[in-house]
This record gives sequence, C-alpha cells and structure tokens, in this order.
Amino acid sequence: MAKVIRCQKVNPSSDCQHVIRGANEDEVLQKAAVHAKEHGMEPNAQLLAQVKAFIEDE
Ligand SMILES: [Zn+2]
Repeated sequence: MAKVIRCQKVNPSSDCQHVIRGANEDEVLQKAAVHAKEHGMEPNAQLLAQVKAFIEDE
C-alpha cells in the first residue's frame, strides 16, 4: 500500500499543499527529507521521527 505525508498536517503553519507519496515508509520518508530542505529545515533524526507519525495509507 502506498504511503502519503501531507505537508500541511506536519507543519500547519506552513500553508503548504504539498503531498509526498512513496511506495513504502522508507521511500516517503526519504522524499519528506528532501521536501524539508525546501522549507529550509534540516531533516535530522528528530525531525524524521516527528514526520513518521504523520504517514498515512493512501
Ligand atoms: Zn511543504
């Protein structure tokens, strides 16, 4: 089952409509790390642990 992360749910104040999709948890987290950099955030272990809680099944 594909996994998605909605940027707005992770960071409601960003008002970002970006939806990250991946074939599995690892892929979607990897893409989230790339997207975090676009927001000027450092995708360290702590941030990714928080993001992981927002992974949804598509
Ligand atoms: Zn975003």
